[in-house]
Amino acid sequence: MDNNNERGWGFSTQAIRTGHHRTPEGEHGEPIFPTSSFVFSSAAEAAARFSGDEPGNIYSRFTNPTVRNFEQRLAALEGGESCVATASGMAAILATCMGLLQTGDHIVSSRSVFGSTTLLFNKYLTRFGIETSFVPLDDATAWEQAIGPKTKLLFVETPSNPLTEVADIRWLSELAHANGCWLVVDNCFCTPALQRPLDLGADIVVHSATKYLDGQGRCVGGAVVGSRELVGEEIYGVLRTAGPTMSPFNAWVFLKGLETLELRMQAHSRNAQQLAVWLEDLPQIEQVYFPGLASHPQYALAQQQQKAPGGIVSFVVKGGQPAAWSLIDATRMLSITANLGDTKTTITHPATTTHGRLTPEQRVEADIGNGMVRIAVGLESIEDIQTDLIRGLDRL
Ligand SMILES: *Cc1c(COP(=O)(O)O)cnc(C)c1O
Repeated sequence: MDNNNERGWGFSTQAIRTGHHRTPEGEHGEPIFPTSSFVFSSAAEAAARFSGDEPGNIYSRFTNPTVRNFEQRLAALEGGESCVATASGMAAILATCMGLLQTGDHIVSSRSVFGSTTLLFNKYLTRFGIETSFVPLDDATAWEQAIGPKTKLLFVETPSNPLTEVADIRWLSELAHANGCWLVVDNCFCTPALQRPLDLGADIVVHSATKYLDGQGRCVGGAVVGSRELVGEEIYGVLRTAGPTMSPFNAWVFLKGLETLELRMQAHSRNAQQLAVWLEDLPQIEQVYFPGLASHPQYALAQQQQKAPGGIVSFVVKGGQPAAWSLIDATRMLSITANLGDTKTTITHPATTTHGRLTPEQRVEADIGNGMVRIAVGLESIEDIQTDLIRGLDRL
């Protein structure tokens, strides 16, 4: 719903206050409205609401005050006119495709996108006659060559998972617009606290709120942010009709998450930076992938495009899968789970989990080796994260 950026507030103020329209009860905290429908004062009012002559709530698949609070706050943080909240990050991507595309259209996507996004494009959208070409995220010529007369949408995630490759959002948005396409950026890894794709020319931002927006691993949710026309009308229309809406309780949890987003993202980035620098010097480690290291191929771009590097660090241990698994299994504190964006540090072996569906050839092509380990660095004391990793590193 529409952004209410009161009095040009700064980012932290918006994160804490935007979108709460206090009720006559005078509540200080944001209220949860756990109601499926809303009542009208008369038959005439009901008719006016249904016809759209009069604004107001009808049913929580259409609008809900707690969900709207979250939408207004996230719209303000991303610098977008409109936001629609969704039941999950995947629902946000599905609703975006359904709202903007039709049979015969073509998508060009970075090949380094979330596994379910690849599956959605390859298996499900193809059934409706929408084809996708996948290109290496950092290959400008491949992007240019993949665009054809039917291309409507460019899709990218930056930094990517698990290699933390960084895409040039401004360049991609110029390429999209020169070809009459929209650029969609999945801003899950950075959040608006570190990167604002709309300011760089992107048309749409999608989120898995499940990750850093909540930040504490409690709820599944998502969101789409962009212009009033694309998001407030086309994509909202899909949500309202097809129904993958966010529940008011989840919206309330995400609101609380947003209040600390900036602090958390800075702290995740600080911990991750320390961990990456430390890992880079260890003899058991072959390579570290982290946008905050000068050795990262797009270090300069990351410095310019992001306020901080983010919380994801990947690295390759010498000795392949046995060494990676032994390192993971030796940890006692880190959580062995594929989720990310939590205060708790998580550790994953991408080749056999998040990227396990790829063929060995596809994994080689995507540069996801058997020795690779991904850490989503949490907010625990950095010394304790290191101690937990040393247990396994000492055995290698
Ligand atoms: C988790 C994730 C998604 C999907 O979000 P869900 O909330 O799990 O549906 C999409 N993109 C990225 C980058 C993710 O990490």
